[in-house]
Amino acid sequence: MSVLNAEEQSALAAARDFADTQVRPRAAAWAHGAADARALLVPAAQAGLLGLEVPVAQGGRGLSFACKWQVAETLAAVDFGFAMSLINTHNVARHLALSATPAVAQRFVPELLAGRRTGCTALTEPGAGSDFAAITTTARRDVDGWLLDGRKAWIVNATHAEVLVVYAQTEPGSGARGIAAFVVDGTREGFVRDAGAPGATSSAAARAIDVGGFQLQGYRAHEGELLHAPGQAFKAALASINGARVYVAAMCCGMVAECLRVAADYGARRHAFGQPLHGHQGWRWALADAAIDLEAARRLVEAAGDGIAAGPGNAATQTAAAQAKVFATRMAGRHVAALLHAMGAEGLRDEHPFLRHLGAAQVAALVDGSTEMLLERIAKDLRPRSAPSRA
Ligand SMILES: Cc1cc2nc3c(=O)[nH]c(=O)nc-3n(C[C@H](O)[C@H](O)[C@H](O)COP(=O)(O)OP(=O)(O)OC[C@H]3O[C@@H](n4cnc5c(N)ncnc54)[C@H](O)[C@@H]3O)c2cc1C
Repeated sequence: MSVLNAEEQSALAAARDFADTQVRPRAAAWAHGAADARALLVPAAQAGLLGLEVPVAQGGRGLSFACKWQVAETLAAVDFGFAMSLINTHNVARHLALSATPAVAQRFVPELLAGRRTGCTALTEPGAGSDFAAITTTARRDVDGWLLDGRKAWIVNATHAEVLVVYAQTEPGSGARGIAAFVVDGTREGFVRDAGAPGATSSAAARAIDVGGFQLQGYRAHEGELLHAPGQAFKAALASINGARVYVAAMCCGMVAECLRVAADYGARRHAFGQPLHGHQGWRWALADAAIDLEAARRLVEAAGDGIAAGPGNAATQTAAAQAKVFATRMAGRHVAALLHAMGAEGLRDEHPFLRHLGAAQVAALVDGSTEMLLERIAKDLRPRSAPSRA
């Protein structure tokens, strides 16, 4: 349920306060590459935001998925990139707490929860994005575990992450069946971080997301660092991606709500032709359109969020998560642009979120499954049962 208990409400209030006092004053500088968003992860940990959905037994807060997506929405309203960065470190802590061996979890989870190390989850490669089963990073059996070789690109937090969940192919040519997942320690030999190669993975879109890439060059993963065996990793990735689709959709709602708030405020103060902008019917209809679609997107997010709580991997939840993300990302792309326009030139100022949120809406439509991949998921349900799967 999207209803929060008292502790969850207090976590959400802390997120609101953090967004206003810590993120808001820095977001414009991050967008210009003039400040380091990673520095805010330790204060975020101190505000209790890195352990939200991590089990209490492993040092987390054991709060609900509903709490997580509402925190994500709140932070993204101010800066999508920072919200994604924080949630990705949080997710690695949770993933290891639930799936790693006790020794591996003990080594990394406390560091992640404290924000001393950051995390990322690496599926995408320079040659494989949507077609995840086509990844070419290899994992070969070695005396004491596995040897990993390959390259990952477009990974949240990869400019600094030191605890990396990496997906690799154990049996080239076997597709999804041979994919396994490993915990990689970014401080060990064989891990080589991209140095922001020009035109490689650097982007001005949602800069605080700290997107980057890295190579594994004969990196040795011990047996205990195998997180999901071949045959299980692909399924595990798809199950966790459903939750990600819901919180990314929620983040789009947060961004549109913030743009709507700023535009409504400005429209009451700015005058044209003898009255406030809001007095012009044509002007205020743009805001009304945004408000309708925002409400619709929120309802899809809530329904999908409830589905995740009930069964993250079941077919109905997969569809609900896909629907929420397709609708919310399109809604954000359309309405952030329209609300920016409603501000006139003022909307382009760095102190306002419009340009940052516009780029972020594009990112949101790609991460955790592009719009087209999600449409395919939704279309799957629409096929008559007897129809063949391919035309
Ligand atoms: C800022 C940012 C952060 C990211 N963070 C991560 C991360 O932390 N971890 C991670 O693993 N990945 C991450 N990604 C990668 C993201 O998951 C990929 O961008 C996404 O999967 C799409 O892959 P691609 O960009 O290679 O596009 P491609 O797969 O090359 O596709 C290009 C276009 O073609 C469309 N397309 C592809 N196949 C089809 C088809 N069969 N039918 C119709 N259309 C199709 C796609 O939808 C897309 O619009 C991130 C990306 C960005 C931009």
